Amino acid sequence: MKILVIGGGGREHALVWKLKQSSLVEKIWCAPGNGGIVEDAECVAVDSGDVAALVALAEKIAPDLTVVGPELPLVNGISDAFARRNWPIVGPTRQAAQLEGSKIFSKEFLLRHNIPTAKMYGAYSSSQDACAALQTVDWPLVIKADGLCGGKGVTLAPSEEAAREFLESVMEKHELGLGGQRVLLEETLEGEELSFILLTDGQRYAPMVPSRDHKRVFDGNKGPNTGGMGAYSSDDLLPAALRERVISTIVEPTLNGLATEGIPYQGFLYIGLMLTADGPKVLEFNCRLGDPEAQAIVARMDFDLAEVLADAAAIRLNPLRLRWKKGASVCVVLTSGGYPGKFETGKHIDGLTSIRDNIGVEVFQAGTRLETNSLVTSGGRVLGVTAAGPSLEEALTLAYRAAEKIHFDGIHYRKDIGAHSGRVKAAGD
Ligand code: AMP
Repeated sequence: MKILVIGGGGREHALVWKLKQSSLVEKIWCAPGNGGIVEDAECVAVDSGDVAALVALAEKIAPDLTVVGPELPLVNGISDAFARRNWPIVGPTRQAAQLEGSKIFSKEFLLRHNIPTAKMYGAYSSSQDACAALQTVDWPLVIKADGLCGGKGVTLAPSEEAAREFLESVMEKHELGLGGQRVLLEETLEGEELSFILLTDGQRYAPMVPSRDHKRVFDGNKGPNTGGMGAYSSDDLLPAALRERVISTIVEPTLNGLATEGIPYQGFLYIGLMLTADGPKVLEFNCRLGDPEAQAIVARMDFDLAEVLADAAAIRLNPLRLRWKKGASVCVVLTSGGYPGKFETGKHIDGLTSIRDNIGVEVFQAGTRLETNSLVTSGGRVLGVTAAGPSLEEALTLAYRAAEKIHFDGIHYRKDIGAHSGRVKAAGD
C-alpha cells in the first residue's frame, strides 16, 4: 500500500510512525511533513490547506490511501474532491466537517437530536445584537466565534465588560478573520474534560482509547491557551458505566443523527466532553484526531493502522480489529520559550539520539526542520515526548526521563501532565 498523509505536526508524525510499522505499507508521503517525519516518509512541500494542490499531488503519486490529519483541508472539501475521483481517503466531507467548521451548525445539530450539551442563549451576526443579549445570560458566559479560528475562537467571559471586549475584537475589529462573523453565546459547564474520539466508516464505528489534554501553557492550568501542552490516555478515565452513558446518550445519537440527516460521516470524529454533575455533555466536535491526544492514542495502538484505515475508507471497518495496549500513555509537549506568544525559531535541538533506543518512548516532531543535517526548532510546539507503560505513573516516568535529556534554547514544558487538575473552571483548561 502506498499512503499519503496530509499535515505536518506531531499528530501526523505519530500516524506516519504507526503506518510505517505495517507490513502492508510500501511507501508513505507526507504533505508537507516536518524535520522528523522526513525520516519515515517522503515529505512534499504542499500546503495542507490547498485542496487543488493536494489533488494535483495525488494525481501524480497515485496513493492507495490518503489520511487527513488537520481540519482545514477537510473543511475546504478535500474528501469531496477525492470522492469525485474515487480515490480512497480517510476524512469527512465538507458538509460533515461543519461539525467542527461551524460552532452554530454543531450546536443546532446537538439541540435537534436532544444530545446533552451546554444551553445555547443565541447565535448572532452583529455585535449589537450579541451585546443586547448579554442582559439575559448567566455569568460566566462562554462565547464562541462560529468558524475556524485556530483555537482562539472560544472565550469564557467572567463579566459583561469582558464579553463586550471579546465581541468587539472578533465582530468589529475582525481579529479572528472570517471565523468571527457570527458568534454563539452559551452556558458555562463545569466538570472534568474528556476526549472521546472514534473512527467510523459511516456504518460502523470503533472508539479510540479515552484521553485528556492540557491546553494551558503553565502547570496548574495557568496562563494562556495553547494548541495543547500534553495529553494522556488511561482506561481509568472512562469507567464502564460512564462509557455506556456516553455511548447511549451522545455517540449513537450523534451518528444516527448524521445518518438521518443524510450527512454520511467517514473518518475520525472527536467528541470533546465535559463530565458535569448532570452527566456527560458535548463541548465541541472536531472532524479529526486531536493533537496531542493523537500521539498518546497512537502509542497504545496494538493493531495494523494501515489495514484499519483502508477498511474505513472502503466502508468495511471491523471494530474488532482495534486492539489496545493495556495501561496508559502520555505525551509531553516541548515548546519554544514564549509560546503561545512570540518565540524565536532556528534553535538547535540536542539529545534526541541519546533516547533513540529508550523502549516505550517515541519523540514525535512538530515544529522542527532539518538545516544542513542538524535539527532546529521551527514552531511553537516543537516535540511530543510520548511514552506508554503498564500504568500512568510508569508512562509519566518514562516520558519525563526522556524529556530531561532534550535541550534547545528556551525549552519549556509542563511538569504536571497526567495530574488530575480538579474541576475545570475556565474555557480551554
Ligand atoms: P471549542 O473550541 O468549542 O472546542 O472550545 C474550546 C475549549 O473551551 C473546550 O475544550 C473547553 O475547555 C472550553 N469550553 C467550550 N465550551 C465550554 C462551555 N460551554 N463551558 C465551559 N468550557 C467550555
